[in-house]
Amino acid sequence: MTNAVKQLHAVKAKIANAEREAKQAPGAVTLVAVSKTFAAEDIRPVIEADQRVFGENRVQEAQGKWPALKAAFADIELHLIGPLQSNKAKEAVALFDVIETVDREKIAAELSKEMARQGRTPKLYVQVNTGSEPQKAGIEPREAVAFVKRCRDVHGLAIEGLMCIPPADENPGPHFALLEKLAREAGVAKLSMGMSGDYETAIAFGATSVRVGSAIFGNR
Ligand SMILES: *Cc1c(COP(=O)(O)O)cnc(C)c1O
Repeated sequence: MTNAVKQLHAVKAKIANAEREAKQAPGAVTLVAVSKTFAAEDIRPVIEADQRVFGENRVQEAQGKWPALKAAFADIELHLIGPLQSNKAKEAVALFDVIETVDREKIAAELSKEMARQGRTPKLYVQVNTGSEPQKAGIEPREAVAFVKRCRDVHGLAIEGLMCIPPADENPGPHFALLEKLAREAGVAKLSMGMSGDYETAIAFGATSVRVGSAIFGNR
């Protein structure tokens, strides 16, 4: 068993425990294994250990390793969790099954166009910059609900959830609580929040999926 597979099992056990404590059904929380910077040969054993949902933060990097893995394992669900440039919308729609980082009008318009052109319908989340950090992607919290509505009404996009990355140096709890509140106001069901350092906390705040990289694959 590779180290990553051992750590996958440990993370899954902690998720199961956090689900129990949050009074969620077993398996209610989806584990998105974040494989960015790791090669196909590191990822493959994790797939063979029955993990099927993965996250990558760069379109180009994902294009280098995932088409072959997806061909080998038909039921992979690949999430884009990094910022999306509008000139990469075409490639993103072609490769990803979930795009978690819709955060501005231009991206919504490009995705809408590409989805119609390719006949593919990746699931979509809106990224919210809960800490209003200038260097971070995501829509401002005060604009999030109206943006979700515009995605639906103007661009014809079904938004399934919200995603956030809390500031690294802050207690994440209030950010998770804010995302949960915004999702309720926007009428979306899914909450992508929590990473290696705080996924159990995120589950306590209602995460429906957690994005865990280094706790599975090791340090980058
Ligand atoms: C890299 C990354 C993660 C995983 O981070 P870890 O701390 O390694 O678990 C989660 N979400 C996003 C958006 C990332 O870019």
